[in-house]
Amino acid sequence: MKNIETKTVDCCASPGLISVEQATEKILSQASPVEETESVDVLDALNRVLAEDLHSTIDVPGYDNSAMDGYAVRSDDCQASGSELPVSQRIPAGQVGSFLEAGTAARIFTGAPIPEGADAVVMQEMCDALDNGKGENKVKINTVVKAGANVRRAGEDIASGSTVLKAGKRLRPQELGLLASVGLAEIKVKRKLKVATFFTGDEIITPGQALAAGQIYNSNRYTLTGLLQAMDCEIVDLGIVPDTLEATLDVLQKAAASADMVITSGGVSVGEEDYVRIALEKLGQLTMWRIAMKPGKPVAFGKVNNALFMGLPGNPVSVFVTFLLFARSLILKQQGVEDCFVKRVSVIADFDWPQIKRQEYLRVRLLEKDKQMVAQLFSHQGSGVLSSASWADGLIEVSIGQAIKEGDKVSYLPFEGLY
Ligand code: AMP
Ligand code: MG
Repeated sequence: MKNIETKTVDCCASPGLISVEQATEKILSQASPVEETESVDVLDALNRVLAEDLHSTIDVPGYDNSAMDGYAVRSDDCQASGSELPVSQRIPAGQVGSFLEAGTAARIFTGAPIPEGADAVVMQEMCDALDNGKGENKVKINTVVKAGANVRRAGEDIASGSTVLKAGKRLRPQELGLLASVGLAEIKVKRKLKVATFFTGDEIITPGQALAAGQIYNSNRYTLTGLLQAMDCEIVDLGIVPDTLEATLDVLQKAAASADMVITSGGVSVGEEDYVRIALEKLGQLTMWRIAMKPGKPVAFGKVNNALFMGLPGNPVSVFVTFLLFARSLILKQQGVEDCFVKRVSVIADFDWPQIKRQEYLRVRLLEKDKQMVAQLFSHQGSGVLSSASWADGLIEVSIGQAIKEGDKVSYLPFEGLY
């Protein structure tokens, strides 16, 4: 079995390339989180990033209440199984009972306030409701009762004055519920990040049109737009750009002027038809270019005026993988999210894989085998095979020089955690 380890690039093995780790560090060091905020209804705040610490002005729960349908009692009255107590009152949720006299019980329902005097609730399954023949109800408690049993204490979830959530938290459904539980209806969040996109390539056309010889559909636009929408960005889509320096300079200038960040696809290699990197160098700064990874070696990163720039490769799987590894973390940091790093978990490989001189990201699916989660490999790992990403649940990260043998422990990046 092999341990997961992160290696830096052996410069002799991959001259001129930087490691995924170094690239991530370099990219994130350039982030300048948006400062502007806006108020939104909590119902509209899914995936938004909290701009301030929020404190509760109330206890949640606001009062001691019953965790069960059953009988509220004084535990002192139920120190032996079989105690019989008259039922003095009935307290449904939403009503407040009266003082519970010693030697009596109150019929009570989940969420109802514990009456004063009582210190425990017995679940109804442990009780027999009795009629003493005089029209008065009694209850037989078939257990010994401990003080505090089945009582939810005031403030046990959130105490009044405590911090509910901190600035920089990206809000998931459970956070929306949490904010509502302390009575908040409107909150201050960071404004949305504006991301401009364009897609280079003379061969690229938009779906809906018929393909001519040598043309392909602009699938990257749809993958990238989906990713940006999932990350709650405002998108400025500048469309398809022909492979000329003039057109690339023109669109890059427009993109940089209209957004916080520019993300493009294609045209970042060393081919004669690749103009994105050259345009970036002319209009701004290129701070990083080639990464020792597969898929996705060429990723151009830099700045044009105040806009950050990330030129993703053209191959559809490379776009997807490099977005998840680099653009995602950068977007999160720009949005002001504290926790912006990619999470890896350990799973077992159900395949062999040879070592190479770049860090690899294999498309895999998890399945249960002998009570363990094992990763199964998609049959075709080409960077143009987008069905591999659609088939997969996540990526296996193979470090430089790591050879995988079936049964090895490997590092897995689940897609669900990534957008
Ligand atoms: P490039 O990086 O521009 O050389 O593109 C690499 C490969 O990705 C080529 O096979 C392109 O045809 C393909 N490609 C580039 N842009 C797109 C796009 N927007 N949608 C789908 N495939 C693309
Ligand atoms: Mg191209």
